[in-house]
Order: sequence, then C-alpha cells, then structure tokens
Amino acid sequence: MVAQTDADVARGERRARVVLAQLGMPHLAGASLEDVAFIRGALVRNFPLVGCEGRLTHRGERAVISVSTLIDYAPRRRFVIAHELGHLELHRDVSQLELSLCSEREIDELYDQGLEKEANAFASELLMPTEVWRKRCDVAAPSLEVVSCLAQEFDVSFTAAAVRFAKLAPERCCVVFSHGGKVQWAVAGQEFGHWVERGQRLHPATLAINYFKGARVPDEPQEVRADAWLESARARGEELWEHSRPMPSRQAVLTLLWIPYGAEY
Ligand SMILES: [Zn+2]
Repeated sequence: MVAQTDADVARGERRARVVLAQLGMPHLAGASLEDVAFIRGALVRNFPLVGCEGRLTHRGERAVISVSTLIDYAPRRRFVIAHELGHLELHRDVSQLELSLCSEREIDELYDQGLEKEANAFASELLMPTEVWRKRCDVAAPSLEVVSCLAQEFDVSFTAAAVRFAKLAPERCCVVFSHGGKVQWAVAGQEFGHWVERGQRLHPATLAINYFKGARVPDEPQEVRADAWLESARARGEELWEHSRPMPSRQAVLTLLWIPYGAEY
C-alpha cells in the first residue's frame, strides 16, 4: 500500500548508514539479515501472506517482519526483509494501516512513490552501501561479470546489483531491461548523459536483440553502434559498449551499456 507523502531517498539512505554504523559493520555481505533485524528489534518469520510479499507489524518496541513463504529466491527474501526493516527504522510513527502490506511491485528499487521509495532506498543502501560499492565499481573495464561477482558476494539479485553498478561506477553506465524485444526500463548513472526510451523496440544492431530472435547473445562485452541504443543524432558512429545477458526465467535480457571516457557525444 502506498502512503501519499513525499519520498525522501536521501533520508532512507542516511538511516541505513546510521544502522550500519551502529552495528559496527561497513556492509552486510555474509551476515544474516534475520540477525540484523533481531538486533534492531524485529523478529523475522515466514508466513503465507496473500497479495503481498512483506509485512511489518509493530507495537511499542516489538515488531514482526513477515515474509511470504512463496519467495524461494534468497536475494529477494533478503531485499524484502531489508525493505520492511526500513519501514521500522523510518516509519515507526506511521499508521499500521498505511504500511502493513508491501506488494512485489512496491518492494523494488525502481518503484518511486511515497514511503515505499524510502524503504527501498534504505534496503539498497543497507545491502549495497554506497561507500563500499563505489570502490568496488571502480574497475578497469565495466562488465556484467563484475556485476555478477558483486551480486554473489553481497547476496543481492543480479538486477539490483546491475542498477547499483550503473549508478555508482565512475564510468558512464546505463542498465537496460528488455522484454518481448522492447525496452522495459532503463536506469542510467548521473554521468551517462543520454536517455534510453522505455517501450522502444530493440534496434537490429544491438546484441540484446539476438535473444529475441532465438540467436546467441555474445558472452563478452562488444562495441556497438551508439545509435543502436541512443536516440541522439550526435551519437551516430561514436563509441558505445554493450554487454548483454539473457535471463531465460523472465524471458528477458539485461544489458549494461557504457560510454568510455574520451568518447564525446
Ligand atoms: Zn513497503
């Protein structure tokens, strides 16, 4: 359920940093989120929730985080717990009715409304702290291999790690999720400087299109025509790198794009 208040991403992130500092842990890789929640005052339990993935119930100092028994993907379960812990840390004074049920759609870093957005910002920062990730994303050559290693180490989903990488890497990066041969969403880092339009059909010169044609998507990053992804006319003929990886369980492709420094467009 969405409460209609102004979202404050910075507030969510700040609170996560305070929690990490109070725990005395720079990050939670390898740590049990159940233990962290317990230390912060919430018991985590699996529960057959209907119509939602997470729920926070609290009264006084006691709180229970319920996680849907239908979630069997460990990184997803971890994100749901972190999201509900965010509600406890940030929204303790908000009515139970306003935040009691959090749906799959709302527990998502890309969901951008109200208190859910704050809880998601808290969860992302708690699981993938900016200070630690900025250093880890500073690599000689961006790739989805790097993203995959980070996802495994920090026990977050491949998609969440890719979005975080695009936002924090010093390179000009953008991550694109394609489904049915079209761009479903794209998240760019601050320096990327271009916009990949939602809903646009994948250009024949992209590597990602191969998956939707039943062809093989190259394993390695490759340079592609910039205008295959970027609308800007000035982009034509300039340098753009693409690394795409099929996600067959979702009939989708995740793509990392980056513009090397020195490429001017
Ligand atoms: Zn929520």
